[in-house]
Amino acid sequence: MADFSELGLSDWLIKQCHQLGITKPTPVQENCMPPILEGRDCMGCAKTGSGKTAAFVLPVLQKLSEDPYGIYCLVLTPTRELAYQIAEQFRVLGKPLGLKDCIVVGGMDMVAQALELSDKPHVVVATPGRLADHIRSSNTFSMSKIQFLIMDEADRLLEQGCTDFTKDLEVILGILPAKRQTLLFSATLTDTLQELKGIAMNRPYFWESTSETRTVEELDQRFILTAERVKDAYLVHLIQTFTDEHDDWSIIVFTNTCKYDARSDSQAHRCAEFLMEALQLQ
Ligand code: AMP
Repeated sequence: MADFSELGLSDWLIKQCHQLGITKPTPVQENCMPPILEGRDCMGCAKTGSGKTAAFVLPVLQKLSEDPYGIYCLVLTPTRELAYQIAEQFRVLGKPLGLKDCIVVGGMDMVAQALELSDKPHVVVATPGRLADHIRSSNTFSMSKIQFLIMDEADRLLEQGCTDFTKDLEVILGILPAKRQTLLFSATLTDTLQELKGIAMNRPYFWESTSETRTVEELDQRFILTAERVKDAYLVHLIQTFTDEHDDWSIIVFTNTCKYDARSDSQAHRCAEFLMEALQLQ
């Protein structure tokens, strides 16, 4: 396996990676970083947890350090949570550059976001709907000089209500320069991702993980098949068992939506309230 310097990464970034315990490139990084650093468009299909975020964050930071200005890079991602995670990796790895980022997602104050955008951040990480709203409603920022358009989880971006997304994407692409590097990353290679091949890409380098599973080997995944009405009881029991046996472990519960919806019984707020009560947490 190559190391980061063989892939063309600068010493300051390698040092930064080492501080975060990132010492050896993962396959998606080893394969996609050199073509990105050479200036090529790239489509990478890699499983979740494979290090695909750093596979685009590191080359962007390297190029940005050679000619820093804002707005240099736009990342589109389907969810707010992913936007925060991506911005965090930019922020941590780009610390020596004094990187300025801006997160543009729904549910946050439009005016504060517009001010941040007009302050020329180096990197904008956005969900398409909110960014398109800003473009439609203001002309206080310019993306006419961006060097990188990155679409993370491109297949999920397309799943988000196709017509709205297509309209939003048209608005966004309308203010981007034709001359740029476009990078698409996705955990799955679906028909919809094939559709995205049409997005002005210039002889993209294409890389797909050869592994058949979509999660990392180290991950121990299990499922419990239960009747709907006892699902919550099973969840509480499971969490109680885990916390009794491993009191220093953290647990993340994923649900299908973040908003409360009386028709659905598995959304984050309701689930969190229910667990707090059942487990008698404060
Ligand atoms: P991602 O697939 O981008 O969601 O990354 C999953 C996690 O792997 C993140 O917490 C990264 O900080 C971490 N990571 C990324 N690249 C490496 C690497 N080369 N070695 C070890 N960890 C890494």
